[in-house]
Amino acid sequence: MSEYKVSALKYRPQNYADVCSQEFVTQTLKNAKLAGKIAHSYLLSGPRGVGKTTIARIFAKALNCTNSKDGEPCNKCESCIEITKCVHPDVFELDAASNRGIDDVRAIQDAAKYAPLKAKYKFFIVDEVHMLTLQAFNAMLKILEEPPEYLVFILATTNPEKIPQTILSRCQRFALHKLKIKEISDQLKKIAEAEKITIDEESLFLIAKLGDGALRDSLGIFDMAISYCGNEISYRELKGFLNLPDKEIYFNISGYIKNENAKELLNYLNYLQDQGFDLQTFYNGLTEHFRNILVIKTTDKPELLDESDFIKKKYVEESANFTLEQALRILKIIFDNETRYKYSANQKILLESMLVEICRINKEVVDLSELISGLEALKKKSPDIGETHIRFNPVKKDDKPKTESELEKQLKELFDAEEFKME
Ligand SMILES: [Zn+2]
Repeated sequence: MSEYKVSALKYRPQNYADVCSQEFVTQTLKNAKLAGKIAHSYLLSGPRGVGKTTIARIFAKALNCTNSKDGEPCNKCESCIEITKCVHPDVFELDAASNRGIDDVRAIQDAAKYAPLKAKYKFFIVDEVHMLTLQAFNAMLKILEEPPEYLVFILATTNPEKIPQTILSRCQRFALHKLKIKEISDQLKKIAEAEKITIDEESLFLIAKLGDGALRDSLGIFDMAISYCGNEISYRELKGFLNLPDKEIYFNISGYIKNENAKELLNYLNYLQDQGFDLQTFYNGLTEHFRNILVIKTTDKPELLDESDFIKKKYVEESANFTLEQALRILKIIFDNETRYKYSANQKILLESMLVEICRINKEVVDLSELISGLEALKKKSPDIGETHIRFNPVKKDDKPKTESELEKQLKELFDAEEFKME
């Protein structure tokens, strides 16, 4: 039986060219090797799962490789093979999340005293370095103050702000970024091809998106999808397996909102709940939906959406159903309720009342115009009417609906006028 390896390990890049994105970092490290200008400590910071320790290992390999070309490791020499297998006697890896004490750093101090056994450089790769204790940092600082020629530290962290300034100032710093959905899905596609897995574009996109910028997380979901769906992953099956609400749901919801059909909207919500959808996931999806509409309304650039091409097109169509003010207003209501929603014991009731409120957003604008009409009428009845009020235009039923800001402006003018000032 062949040994099963998760995709994140099996397809871990072994040279810079295979690292997904992060070209700025890989190119600089390659140049350092080519120019022979090696610092004693490097700090790679960035979100989880974007390649920090992978790059650290490639760097260690490239520097110790006996057959390196263009700054890349050969992956064939003894040194490269030993580093890949994590058995090289001069390359140490420490996970500071579980080895954070002074003893662990003393061990590094002791090891640092002796020249490398085989290679030119001795490496210490310290992952999650921000987890070290202050004492441990001080011990590390002592080494960094007078590092021996052969010593190279590569520190990796998700929280660089938690590292003492004294350490930071001695490091060459590199910030790695979250990966784009397209970068992750391209990578998944390559792996799927190599593994002879059939997978459609929508599924690739969904898995890439769920990783939230971390390739490792997307690869984890990819592995789960394979164990569930087998060698043919279809979007429908995948969605069912992940129990995710379909995008279509949110388009239906905004359809009800556009038609101000609160009754059907609540019926639909009930139906969704019977399907077993998690309400928090639903809430997040709803926020994203109206955010997408707002982005299209504001920028007219569907490429800014983190969605598949098919869904982007739908958003362009959908955004025509709402004015910018409406989209803003709906989002405001959603955000205003967000915290309450998270901690509410009655999420469903809160959600229902919020959706009814959203259905009434046009109503409220009308109410505002009715209010203005009422005020105008009141003014006409007043015995001390001056000339000035002629500039107000009463809102008539057959008037073109005014935008919220126009109405607000009108209302403000009305209140600012002399005859409405309180005595
Ligand atoms: Zn090599």
